[in-house]
Order: sequence, then structure tokens, then C-alpha cells
Amino acid sequence: MSGTHRPLTGKLVIATHNAGKLAEIRNLLAPHGIEAISAGELGLPEPEETGTTFAANARIKAASAARRSGLPAFADDSGLCVEALDGAPGIYSARWAGPDRDFAAAMAEIERQLDEKKSPDRRACFIAALCLAWPDGHVEDFEGRVDGTLVWPPRGDKGFGYDPMFLPEGFDRTFGEMSAEEKHGLPPRGKGLSHRARAFVKLARACLT
Ligand code: IMP
Repeated sequence: MSGTHRPLTGKLVIATHNAGKLAEIRNLLAPHGIEAISAGELGLPEPEETGTTFAANARIKAASAARRSGLPAFADDSGLCVEALDGAPGIYSARWAGPDRDFAAAMAEIERQLDEKKSPDRRACFIAALCLAWPDGHVEDFEGRVDGTLVWPPRGDKGFGYDPMFLPEGFDRTFGEMSAEEKHGLPPRGKGLSHRARAFVKLARACLT
């Protein structure tokens, strides 16, 4: 662990109201002796995500939960950035799917806009920003990124969100065609392929014991 980072011990508030994410993060933290409590369980409100970057939004969520709970807090923000669309949908990745969370429609919209641009550039990346915030205002930020290209039509039904359209560099199967272990599995057992896994490896190296 580097001396410039603050080690994390004991209880940690997870600033998410998403049960799936909470379970995933709980599993990642358990081997490090961290007890994860959700912001939902503590009745903390969800702050408005007014940032213009993934890192800013992760920081808003983590800092708000730390301030309100008096405990260290964790938050993440992530999305898909398409090169030829100037980084869209980016921080609006969830919003592009609308209130019904219709990712088939969101993927079709990306394809429509790529078509309209008539650009041969189909590069894209997933980015995940993770933030640890303490009640005294200290924060630690980590970012993970995975590069790839977009395929059409989408392939596979194993993942979520934009997974079926995303072919990670060096692979011939989309995220939608990969098992959760293959996509998110952490070293030494897994490859730590996904953006979230890559960011988490950095966080663990810096702040977990
Ligand atoms: P967040 O929950 O605010 O971080 O929103 C992230 C949004 O980005 C999700 O709703 C998905 O649309 C998209 N996204 C983030 N990570 C992934 C991924 O690993 N696969 C597919 N879509 C993702």
C-alpha cells in the first residue's frame, strides 16, 4: 500500500440504492474485513448527479453519504463513451435508456447516430469512476477503462446495459456473450477485464489491506 493513500478499515457506507451493485461490492470488500452498509438501509437521500464527469458524479455521491452518515463512504459512476459521438452517451448512459431502462432502444439510438455520421470509426470504451470519501473531507478517486469496438446487431444476453454491443479489444465475444466471472472476475482468479474490475483493483491496491 502506498503511504499517500488512506487505508480503509471497518464500516463503509455504499452510496447506491441498487441491490445488485450493493451485493457485488459487498462480496468484493468482505475478504478485506470491510463491513458494507447501504445508503438505502441508513435512509440517506440520493443527491442530484450534477457533475460533468464520471469522477465528479462518483465524488458527489460518496461525499454526500460520508457527510450525512459520519462514516467513510463508497460510490461509483460509469458508462459507455463512443468515440465518433464525441464520448456520448457517457455520463448519460443510464438516461439514454429512458425511464423503462430500454437498452435495446439505447443501443439502436447509438447505431442510428453512427449511421448518420457515416463514420467508419466504431471505437468505444467503458469507464468506471470509484470514489472513497471520509467525513473529514478526504477523498480517494480511482478510474478504470476498457477499450473496444461496437458491433451491430447486438450479441449475447448474459450481461446488462450496453454489453451486447461491446466487443472488448483482443476478444471475439461481446460482453453480452461473456459470463460474469469472465467479465468482472478479479485477479488472481480472473483477468480483471471490465472497467469496474480495473478500477476496483486500483482501489484495493491503494486503500485495502
Ligand atoms: P450508473 O449506475 O450511474 O453508473 O450508470 C451506468 C450506466 O452505464 C448503466 O445504466 C449502463 O447503461 C451503463 N454501463 C455501465 N457499466 C456497464 C457495463 O459493464 N455494461 C453495460 N453497460 C454498462
